[in-house]
Amino acid sequence: MKIDRQNKPLLDQYRKLKWLIFFRALFAAVLLGSAMLMGFHESRALFSQPIVFIEYIAIALLALSLLYAFILPHLFQFVRFGYIQIFIDSLFLTGIIFVTGSFSSIFSFLYLIVIIYAGMILSRSGGMFIAFCCSVQYGVLIALEFQGVIYPVGVKIDFLIRNYNWDYVLYKVFMTLVACFGVSFLSGFLAEQERRAKKDLWAMADQVKRVERLAAIGEMASGLAHEIKNPLASLSGSIQFLREDIPYDPDRDRLMDIILREADRLTALVNDFLMFAKPQPGQIKIVELDVAMKEIINVFTADNRRNKRIHVTKQFFEGIFIEIDPEHFRQVIWNLLLNAAEAIESEGQIDIKISPVDKSHACITISDDGCGMSEETMKSIFDPFFTAKPKGTGLGLSIVQRIITSYNGLIDVQSEPEKGTTFTVKFRRVINSGLFSLSRPG
Ligand code: ADP
Ligand code: MG
Repeated sequence: MKIDRQNKPLLDQYRKLKWLIFFRALFAAVLLGSAMLMGFHESRALFSQPIVFIEYIAIALLALSLLYAFILPHLFQFVRFGYIQIFIDSLFLTGIIFVTGSFSSIFSFLYLIVIIYAGMILSRSGGMFIAFCCSVQYGVLIALEFQGVIYPVGVKIDFLIRNYNWDYVLYKVFMTLVACFGVSFLSGFLAEQERRAKKDLWAMADQVKRVERLAAIGEMASGLAHEIKNPLASLSGSIQFLREDIPYDPDRDRLMDIILREADRLTALVNDFLMFAKPQPGQIKIVELDVAMKEIINVFTADNRRNKRIHVTKQFFEGIFIEIDPEHFRQVIWNLLLNAAEAIESEGQIDIKISPVDKSHACITISDDGCGMSEETMKSIFDPFFTAKPKGTGLGLSIVQRIITSYNGLIDVQSEPEKGTTFTVKFRRVINSGLFSLSRPG
């Protein structure tokens, strides 16, 4: 059976168990080696016959490790398998402690290691469970020894439990239990943190993958948009050409109007999309705000249909300069003006102001007395493709925001339904001698 590589938590469990099996085998090998070495030198300080028991235990542990290594790849219940392994470890450990002197064994600290990796592999509750198992085993072992029910193998007479005071025995057992639970709590806590960090990391990696995929799709879409632009231009060109050539017929003219209008709409959409998906790096120039604004507004109000129903007022503070690509600036102001005009249903007013904020900032406000918007709408207006208009693209404000933030500017909106909307754009000023202004007409 193969483990699903995408299932990261499962894969993580699998890897941990693999390492556990490896380290257990390593420990068993070291135990076996050291026991054999000690047996060889006959320098059996604390234990004599038990050496042979230790060897047996080490060999059994090695065999068990082999067995685990063999069945691990065929399992999916890693957590349960982990519980079983670690519980068996605790039994083995109690065995080792028993044959190396029980109460006087130097190996009781190994309980803590088992509890630590239980916490790491089985989470906090697993660590607690193993701590509980170890405590019970150790307590029972010492109690049985204290009662004289069992007799530890090969302990020198000086080290027998009966040579100690009962309060000392109790104290040692108690401290061992405290250590077990303390360590299990700590390791569980750390493991929990590690698990959370890993989860965040995995989520982030997924997010990066998604973004990469989206970027690839965006790349493709902008390629497609480019390809649409040229045929569209030929289409409107040809229709205009035809219109001049064929004799006037009101019905046909109306149809041609529709074609031209829709072609214009498509072109605008494609341009907006390209602007949004692939913003061109700007050619930054020093722009004098009032001059540039006047030029844009002139073009804007030149449209007769707007001119008749919308009154535009200007209140411009002069001599304010900012650094921006004039084309980007035009795009920002144009989109805001267009939205303002579209918000006004029949007749209304747009007030445009340029004013200094402080020595190093200036702001432009564009207010309309149009339909305004609700709190709910306001939350989404900067999202790409969000639109409340039947024929909107929802890209206007996304482009505006993208441009403004790329110049470290700010955009703010205030709106009240039925009353109107005010957009405020804040730019960083350049302190300019005012000798040259390079604004360009839109
Ligand atoms: P679009 O104009 O294509 O709908 P925009 O990104 O320019 O896309 O605007 C998104 C939405 O924000 C609009 O559909 C509209 O609901 C709202 N909006 C923007 N400007 C104004 C405004 N001046 N008054 C009222 N609503 C506005
Ligand atoms: Mg718009």
